[in-house]
Amino acid sequence: MSQKKYLYLFSEGNKDMREILGGKGANLAEMTRAGMPVPQGFTISTEACTQYYKDGRQINEEIMADIYEYIGKLEEIAGKKFGDVNNPLLVSVRSGARASMPGMMDTILNLGLNDESVEGLAKLTSNPRFAYDSYRRFVQMFSDVVMEMSKSDFEKIIDEMKQAKGVKEDIDLDADDMKALVVKFKALYKEKMGKDFPSDPKEQLIEAVKAVFRSWDNPRANVYRRMNEIPYDWGTAVNVQCMAFGNSGNRSGTGVAFTRNPATGEKALFGEYLINAQGEDVVAGIRTPSPISKLHEEMPEVYDQFVEIAQRLENHYKDMQDMEFTIENGKLFMLQTRNGKRTAAAALKIAVDLVDEGMIDEKEAVLRVEPKQLDSLLHPQFDPAALKAAQVIGKGLAASPGAACGQVVFTAEDAKEYVESGKMPKVVLVRLETSPEDIEGMQVAQGILTVRGGMTSHAAVVARGMGTCCVSGCGDIVVDYDAKCFTLAGKTYHEGDWISIDGSTGNIYGEAIPTADASISGDFERFMEWADVARTLKVFTNADNPHDAQQGVNFGAEGIGLCRTEHMFFEADRIKAVREMIVAENVEGRKKALAKILPYQQGDFEAMYKVMGDRPMTIRYLDPPLHEFLPTKPAEIEELAADLGITVDHLNTVIASLHEFNPMMGHRGCRLAVAYPEIAEMQTTAVINAAINVHKETGLNIVPHIMIPLVGEVKELKFVKDVVVATADKLIAEAGVDMKYEVGTMIEIPRAALTADEIATEAEFFSFGTNDLTQMTFGFSRDDAGKFLNYYYDNKVYESDPFAHLDQKGVGKLVEMAAKLGRATRPELGLGICGEHGGDPTSVEFCHRVGLDYVSCSPFRVPIARLAAAQAAIKNPRK
Ligand code: PEP
Ligand code: MG
Repeated sequence: MSQKKYLYLFSEGNKDMREILGGKGANLAEMTRAGMPVPQGFTISTEACTQYYKDGRQINEEIMADIYEYIGKLEEIAGKKFGDVNNPLLVSVRSGARASMPGMMDTILNLGLNDESVEGLAKLTSNPRFAYDSYRRFVQMFSDVVMEMSKSDFEKIIDEMKQAKGVKEDIDLDADDMKALVVKFKALYKEKMGKDFPSDPKEQLIEAVKAVFRSWDNPRANVYRRMNEIPYDWGTAVNVQCMAFGNSGNRSGTGVAFTRNPATGEKALFGEYLINAQGEDVVAGIRTPSPISKLHEEMPEVYDQFVEIAQRLENHYKDMQDMEFTIENGKLFMLQTRNGKRTAAAALKIAVDLVDEGMIDEKEAVLRVEPKQLDSLLHPQFDPAALKAAQVIGKGLAASPGAACGQVVFTAEDAKEYVESGKMPKVVLVRLETSPEDIEGMQVAQGILTVRGGMTSHAAVVARGMGTCCVSGCGDIVVDYDAKCFTLAGKTYHEGDWISIDGSTGNIYGEAIPTADASISGDFERFMEWADVARTLKVFTNADNPHDAQQGVNFGAEGIGLCRTEHMFFEADRIKAVREMIVAENVEGRKKALAKILPYQQGDFEAMYKVMGDRPMTIRYLDPPLHEFLPTKPAEIEELAADLGITVDHLNTVIASLHEFNPMMGHRGCRLAVAYPEIAEMQTTAVINAAINVHKETGLNIVPHIMIPLVGEVKELKFVKDVVVATADKLIAEAGVDMKYEVGTMIEIPRAALTADEIATEAEFFSFGTNDLTQMTFGFSRDDAGKFLNYYYDNKVYESDPFAHLDQKGVGKLVEMAAKLGRATRPELGLGICGEHGGDPTSVEFCHRVGLDYVSCSPFRVPIARLAAAQAAIKNPRK
């Protein structure tokens, strides 16, 4: 026996042991403790999995011996023996990580069957068809999962058999057919693998366990982990459980059910089952199952017992449960329970209902909704008028809500390629059914439409998890993958044709339907109020125009943390003046051009101040290198030269002089204002005059926040600040108003973080620009790193994109240090973040922990940041 305990009987664990037993193992143990009908078994811990990887992908001798020991224990508990000719022990082998990863890893059922034990099973059940059906399924699954043989080779053999017999369904094949299938399957195995199918159940088990461990590292699991920020070093547990047979006749079946509706949150048992089937038949979506309510008619006692257990489980976990069950000859067995995946709308409704039912308090409710999930509620819904006018061409199951409008594609690979290349920016993925390999295509699609499969099919479960709209099980669709088209309601739709699907009604439309903005109301609004009470971090938005500012305010932004003024320079009516400034040869020329830009800029700020009312707004001065404003195509260069009254040669010389090898590390940010102070002068005039005008017009007490970008040295900041202060003070004095303003800086260069104590002598606030700070700390370009970061993920060098999730160890250390140094110099120093990380939940939690005052993010991520900030405050209350 090993020193460490790697294996646990279900009777030895409990729900709090998910780190070592995985979610499935911990909950099977908990149900066992609660005396529920659970087929017994044992869990091989996640630590055994990490040990397997440490040992170079091998199960070491100690763990191997432990597994054999637990097989013995299980044989005793079950009163059956592995490989027994009379009463064989058969098990399922299933993965179960700490966080649930539906469909990402492997499962093997009916393990333990061989030419002898199958006869035992046939005799014992007096049901040879069932015994041989189980056997052929096992050979098929083992070959696929453990040996990675192609599934379709086996399907082909089944299809040939059905054709020869003139039948349509698997269920129409009899015992002899199943027996013949086993022989054919094993022959195929031998042909492809060059050896016999393993007949020793212990060998089968060890190989299956290894396959589950291996599946932790398969490509789809890696993608899923990266999407969900699940660390690679968690590993997966393996559950070895006595089989309960849902395929042993018409008094048997298998199903999946939720205690509440996972799409809407409605409080009613929701689920489906298949008679005479095994688990994979439901999940794979190959046969369309019956709703759970029908079980009430078919097997009333089983139904009542199941309802009672479901209620007990929900009361116990105080959350909606997703349960798998099997009925074997009229007897119910529970195979799994977990907190169910749900849509954002359902998550909100369930959290609010659980509070109203007195099950949880408001803080607990706030912790129950994943911030990222809210995203799906914030995006446009179908425009109600356009929807009414559109014609429904078909209907499927409303599997995952949302409004999707896009061009038809038929494979996940095409979806990914077309979206990434921009060939089809919005696609709807149309499939017979989806499988876990399709995950990347599903992620980029606006929506997913499937021909087969119920509400718990892979497509439905995964789409709900991603917040992607999905309509499943529209059996009227006839798909032709080869011709890349489908037919519905007498019309053929080809790849690239536009369709729309409504995941809330299941309706399908053969046209593009326009969408309208979403709003926060009802349960969502109530829930967000609880979140706002809980949080201490403020949430601002990044906005460069009145529309975005309004959107941010609608979503609850308390101010603007970053207004990037260069975006205002690109607009058609002013770009010419900007270009004139760039080509000007002296200060006078530049000032003349800047005077033309001033009224536009001032007008922009006035409009934004009006939207923001008394909420603060931080305006960042010109940041990008000037060449970004100049044309690159010869025709445009000619046109501009004519416009400016200069020669093409002259203009080309200017463009060439602005060329930089590393523009992101070049003449940009405050370096522009150091070279051309008149730019900062014009921008200050615009900011202050706008504030004065709006103050005079509305009486609002505006305190402009002026932010200098890309500072790395305090004297640099002081130089620009002096220009700002001289200009602002003069204007305020001339206007005869009493206006305060603040000048601060972005901390986005490592040197600024390192010398933050000095910088704080001049800066009244810091805003961490973590986009540039990440770029400059790692030393790789934010624009180009995407090209090679995939290699880093594949080779497990990085687990996630540091531009999406703040690198807390390195970049975060700089942020924390700069915050401390800055506050040591100036205790009232304002601290915020305005890089993309300001809307990323784990980064927001970090910002809370290191004591920032606010996070600022794009308008659509404001509610996500509000919730993430609330969760951070509940988990780590500030002293
Ligand atoms: C940043 O660098 O984080 C930032 C917010 O500025 P920008 O993205 O405009 O460079
Ligand atoms: Mg920046």
